[in-house]
Amino acid sequence: MAFFGAGALKGLMVTLGYLRRKPYTVQYPEEKLQISPRFRGNTFVWYEDRCTGCATCAKGCPLGIIKIVTHPKPNPQVGSDYQVDVFDIDTGRCMFCALCVEVCPYDALHMGADFERAVPARQDLVITVDQLREMPKKPTTQFRPQLEAIDYKGEEELEEHEAGRWSL
Ligand code: SF4
Ligand code: SF4
Repeated sequence: MAFFGAGALKGLMVTLGYLRRKPYTVQYPEEKLQISPRFRGNTFVWYEDRCTGCATCAKGCPLGIIKIVTHPKPNPQVGSDYQVDVFDIDTGRCMFCALCVEVCPYDALHMGADFERAVPARQDLVITVDQLREMPKKPTTQFRPQLEAIDYKGEEELEEHEAGRWSL
């Protein structure tokens, strides 16, 4: 039989029931959850020695937010690679689909795991070639079965010969 306030009491009992449960949330940033090895953060890992400057990643980006400018290396041969002068990725517009990573024929570009890149100005979200060079070489395993095969968890930095499907 219903009585005045029964609904409120029922709701309160539900709330009290949750007090006994372990919370699903954590107090970020003091505490952080373990991310998946395949995580797509808003950084990239670029191995310059693996990169030929072919710009396949730029052509494969659905948003056209990768800008690559190259010049031929001295005495270029057929099939030779190029010196990369500009490699800008506008992560302010990026949807982190990882298609640029997937299409890279040389495993030179990988998704990174960092996500704490809040900046006051949108233009500061553009990752430049110099920033790419400096970023920690800790790729995620997104589209990288060779890294999953060695159970790589992103804890240590990888050299260029360790990141690709073949050694340089
Ligand atoms: S992750 Fe997707 S949107 Fe972002 S740069 Fe790569 S291809 Fe473009
Ligand atoms: S990162 Fe890969 S796809 Fe992009 S220019 Fe370098 S080799 Fe080509």
